[in-house]
Amino acid sequence: MIRANDPNLRSWIPIPEHSDFPIQNLPLGVIQVKGKHHVAMRIGDYVVDLAVLNKSGLLGVDFVDSVFQNEFINDCIGLGKEMTRDLRNRVSRLLDDKHDELRTNVDLRESCILPISTVEVCMPIQIGNYTDFYSSKEHATNVGTMFRDPANALLPNWKHIPIGYHGRASSIVLSGTPIKRPNGQTKAPDQDAPVFGASKQLDFELEMAFVTCKSNPLGSTISTKEAEEYIHGMVLFNDWSARDMQSWEYVPLGPFLAKSFASSMSAWVVSMDALKPFRVPGPQQDPKPLPYLQFEGDHNYNIELEVLIESPRFNPARICHSNYKYMYWNMVQQLAHHASNGCNIQVGDLYASGTISGPIKDSFGSMLELTWRGTEPLKMPDSTERKFINDNDTVIMRAFSKNEQVRIGFGEVVTKVLPA
Ligand code: CA
Repeated sequence: MIRANDPNLRSWIPIPEHSDFPIQNLPLGVIQVKGKHHVAMRIGDYVVDLAVLNKSGLLGVDFVDSVFQNEFINDCIGLGKEMTRDLRNRVSRLLDDKHDELRTNVDLRESCILPISTVEVCMPIQIGNYTDFYSSKEHATNVGTMFRDPANALLPNWKHIPIGYHGRASSIVLSGTPIKRPNGQTKAPDQDAPVFGASKQLDFELEMAFVTCKSNPLGSTISTKEAEEYIHGMVLFNDWSARDMQSWEYVPLGPFLAKSFASSMSAWVVSMDALKPFRVPGPQQDPKPLPYLQFEGDHNYNIELEVLIESPRFNPARICHSNYKYMYWNMVQQLAHHASNGCNIQVGDLYASGTISGPIKDSFGSMLELTWRGTEPLKMPDSTERKFINDNDTVIMRAFSKNEQVRIGFGEVVTKVLPA
């Protein structure tokens, strides 16, 4: 077992009840403090400044300063999973209530353990490439039913290929950053010609995304077995979509400006190591995938997901409750498929799951599905209705894993929508 995963560990740092960040989590992120960016870990409502801690010698092994005195976690996760596992174990030991080297070193403790309210939390990853998959069977079936043909909702390739497309990395923003409703070209079915203007069907997509920590040379491939060494951890992800722009532009080459205006992600990258206790088997895959997509072991994860809408006129109201475990194609299959043509994966790439919908209506991961393309609007607490997301609405996503002993989470992705 990974030492830092021990469910019996308790920290001398106070952890609020139901916190996403107990000592068993210790996700990586980036903080800005006194004008400098440092790599940090989150615990409870505190952050551990790894640049300061590394200089103290208490970690027991010296990392090169630039790994943590850095604007991004790329160099840190790029050390590989063995090193980041060792780092997490060492920090865990220093925060464990059975060890007091750090707790009793008041000067050091006060300079490296900082209340999160006193630092700026920053975008943790320099994202080189962003790929968006389409791996929830329930979501693909719902969209196929609405946009094409209920009798043949899944296209013939869907159960053979983890379908995906190359997204836009530059417009991925951190939770808390407002987004602007996009302008674009749309054509309603009853119009003869398209118009240009503000999207009338702005939607969220409830997704998770994984971050890679290893690169393969161009022209080489990655097996499902090797894929685990390439995946450092995960974030919660809202892949904003303008449905009216999407339905007009997406044939024949797929989504473009309907998706590229913004995606929002959570600030703390939860390691696959920390998620290990929450592994579960995935859905039965029938037909059996081709050999390069076959895998051993459990690669789905039990991660509870929820979406809430808040507005100036009402408090957050939950509109969706889903789970990452519903994913048909898992991460090792997605990555093996991505590299199967020799495409080179890079450190700091982001790979999103695609909208995660469950089997029943309140588990659908987008307004498109929850309101069935606007035909069944959702009632809000102030008695207004939503077919899609209105200006000044705030969409809140949450994700956490829980068993009898431990709960670890991803924090929130909170995004306010501003007018076009
Ligand atoms: Ca998506």
